[in-house]
Amino acid sequence: MYHNNPKHIENRDRLRPIIRLIKEEKIKYERPYNLNRKIYRFLSLAHSWKYIKKINRIFKKAYKKRKIIYIDKDTYISPRSYLSSFYSVLSGIKAIDIEEERIFIPTRPPGHHAGRNGKVNSTQGFCIFNNIAIAAMYARKKYRTLILDVDIHHGNGTEDIIKNKKNVFYISTHARDYYPFTGYESYSNIINYPLDWGTDDKEYIKVFKNEIEQKIKEIDPDIILISLGLDMHVKDPLSVFKVTEESYKYVFKSLGGYKTIYFLEGGYNEEVIYIIVKHLLKL
Ligand SMILES: [Zn+2]
Repeated sequence: MYHNNPKHIENRDRLRPIIRLIKEEKIKYERPYNLNRKIYRFLSLAHSWKYIKKINRIFKKAYKKRKIIYIDKDTYISPRSYLSSFYSVLSGIKAIDIEEERIFIPTRPPGHHAGRNGKVNSTQGFCIFNNIAIAAMYARKKYRTLILDVDIHHGNGTEDIIKNKKNVFYISTHARDYYPFTGYESYSNIINYPLDWGTDDKEYIKVFKNEIEQKIKEIDPDIILISLGLDMHVKDPLSVFKVTEESYKYVFKSLGGYKTIYFLEGGYNEEVIYIIVKHLLKL
């Protein structure tokens, strides 16, 4: 909740449906690891020191001046964004460490557009540090790790960090010819599925069932980290698909039996966030 700009679509109201769910459904929850100097070591698993230092300077400036600073045309840092950013990263690390079959982390700001040096294309798409890529770079030391990205947008930052790394894989479905205009090709440990605008549940589930499930079996991961973008949903203001909660339910069910950690990425309709996260938590 510390990272906030009421004039921006990616603001703290996105967490309200999740807080409501925790109360209504009496969901068991854990706090992130305490903030300490180790945070910089975790950040450096995925980001360059030059970038970490740059963001730290902006964190301090925003805090001291009590104002919102834009690091590019889409991505802001508010006075206490450093807390949200660091706690999101620390939650990802803790989730790897604890024994629990399914974990959901309401990470904010989102992360999958943040590359090793920040910007990969024209903007970093609301992202500061790549929460899921940091967790994956930490996890891969012990576990064969897969990142599955189901946001409407391609995780160009995650691809930038994960590409050619050992013991870690990335599979993404996303809309083609849409921001950030990447994710058309696949590489050794990166498998991209650009899908047409207007993709509906039938088509989405078909791709997942016929192709992605097979790939996951081949990769045979010990752990799956999911970039959970809720902006594929037809009711999301940024969606260009026609999928509903049915596609998400299919994905959640299909991953049953694996250790899964879900990281919140996009998703800007509070009702949609409520419905889909409720399905996930009540599985
Ligand atoms: Zn997105």
